[in-house]
Amino acid sequence: MKAVENVDAVVVGTGFAGVYAIHKLRSLGLSVRAFEAGSDVGGTWYWNKYPGARCDVESLEYSFGFSNEIQQKWDWSHRFSFQPDIQRYIAHVADTVDVRQLIEFNTKVVSQTYDEKQQRWAVSTDKGEVIHCSFCVMATGILSVPLYPDIPGLDSFTGEKYHSGAWPSEPVDFTGKRVAVFGTGATGIQIVPEVAKQASRLFVMQRTANFSLPAGNKPLRPEDVETYRKDYPERRKRARKHIFGISNVPEPTRSVLELSEEEANAAFEKLWEMGGSLNFQMAFNDFMKDERANKRLADFVRRKIRETVKDQATAEKLCPYDHPIGSRRICIDTGYYETYNRDNVELISLRETPVKRITPKGIETEAGEIEVDAIVFATGFDGITGALTHIDIAGRNGVKLSEQWQKEVGSYMGFTVHGFPNMFIITGPGSPAVKSNMVMSIEQHVELIGDTIAYMRSRGLGAIEATAEAERAWMERVSEIANKTLFVKADSWYNGANVAGKARGFTIYVGGVNNYRLEVENMIADGYRGMVLEPLRSDQKTEARASL
Ligand code: FAD
Ligand code: NAP
Repeated sequence: MKAVENVDAVVVGTGFAGVYAIHKLRSLGLSVRAFEAGSDVGGTWYWNKYPGARCDVESLEYSFGFSNEIQQKWDWSHRFSFQPDIQRYIAHVADTVDVRQLIEFNTKVVSQTYDEKQQRWAVSTDKGEVIHCSFCVMATGILSVPLYPDIPGLDSFTGEKYHSGAWPSEPVDFTGKRVAVFGTGATGIQIVPEVAKQASRLFVMQRTANFSLPAGNKPLRPEDVETYRKDYPERRKRARKHIFGISNVPEPTRSVLELSEEEANAAFEKLWEMGGSLNFQMAFNDFMKDERANKRLADFVRRKIRETVKDQATAEKLCPYDHPIGSRRICIDTGYYETYNRDNVELISLRETPVKRITPKGIETEAGEIEVDAIVFATGFDGITGALTHIDIAGRNGVKLSEQWQKEVGSYMGFTVHGFPNMFIITGPGSPAVKSNMVMSIEQHVELIGDTIAYMRSRGLGAIEATAEAERAWMERVSEIANKTLFVKADSWYNGANVAGKARGFTIYVGGVNNYRLEVENMIADGYRGMVLEPLRSDQKTEARASL
């Protein structure tokens, strides 16, 4: 058992969020320790090394703006960068701001307990280390707990098994193998075209069809990158005020219903050529508000699927009808629908022939057994709350976060939780999170947390905690905004529906990054309205003074 250590702040997780948080807190003069379950920085981009993994927000936008030095020097090669490039970028940032020596890799935080008298947390790791700190910064990610499907016989399979979110570091060679891919979300849609190029047979096990748009990915021209770089400071400012947190696609100002059917389709054709999903999402202001507007776009994409996929029975199975386009993540792909024109690829609709069990040799559906050499699970994550409920977090009066959230997921302004003083979450429930350019939202939260701690220290405050009333009102507001949209018209990880027994509820703030920022700024201007600020207890004062 190692000795107990005292620091000002512990950061859990070292993806985009953790790396910046460590840097920020240290630059405020705090002593920091960080823990990461993986063996390197990168988070999402460390774990998801599956073939075809790319971002869907353009790299020139999906990158940090906090350091002009970094954004002026880093070279993105593609419009939507590949996983290795993004991981390299995060590693480069970690090296530039020199935070690696503060990170304990291959180490999981397993529990955190708040001591109200001391105004401190005790953080324990799976290596037996205990660290006492004033602040816990949870940079644990909203898509970092991979989910395997609950299919009988899963462990009996004798072939190779992979989960997209825990992919091996060494490349996997599917050449000549019979492979099944479960899952046709954003991940499955990226994996399928790549595996199809190698496998002798590929069976795509589809439960729910999703909408996918062409990525239109391409190498970036150096002169375009250069122009971007010149404009970066201005662009980042613009992005902060943009509904999605980007600078390169203006916000929509008109309704698609103002156009005739022909005009709308002509506009969609242009967007289809441009590629990416944000061009579509930002083109008209009513896709997610008006079912008629949404149906226009959905009909267009279904027509594209039918035009692309030669076998019309397969095309029909690939057409989503059970949710509005955009109510689940709109996928972007590189040749996904075209892949079904290959002779070695077969779409198995699990709605028509449900899976009965996994067998030692493959998969048994109601139509019979499919023998395979490898199964890829692109079956998603215990999203938004999973990483936090997997840690045994006990707040004030020993209340467990996992139990509190089992009843109802709540947070005040997406970064704090009532009952858990001095614990900050980066892109937690109640924030725009995945309904934004995540790097922009991560930066906002890291800066908000840094400012909050600086505010506390400058006023001799020892603890900050949201009130139950403020948290309830905030979550009601989040629901009220969501309920006016079509986002709530689908089941997915967005609302907890993909995890059996999980509390359901749409907890993402979809009012826009710009409006969310204003709400937070107003809350701070009102002296942290909705939060209780406790003075620093006298026995803690010497330490706090020493650290700032
Ligand atoms: P993460 O990157 O998830 O990092 C969290 C880290 O915390 C992980 O490394 C994990 O190991 C660690 N951790 C968790 N619990 C513990 C613990 N108890 N102890 C120690 N360590 C722990 N968003 C976009 O905006 N645009 C995109 O294009 C985009 N593409 C995506 C593609 C994929 C395949 C996935 C899965 C997500 C994508 N996202 C995208 C969302 C993505 O998760 C975020 O953009 C961003 O990378 C999250 O960074 P983070 O640091 O908050 O969390
Ligand atoms: P996901 O969207 O949750 O999709 C999981 C898939 O697995 C769904 O198709 C689901 O079917 C299927 N599935 C789950 N359990 C199953 C079972 N028992 N039997 C059969 N099928 C089952 O997860 P994801 O695709 O990993 O994406 C998660 C999020 O990560 C995305 O929404 C996005 O935010 C992000 N992401 C982004 C990119 C990108 O382009 N940059 C790429 C990958 C991921 P049902 O729908 O029927 O449940």
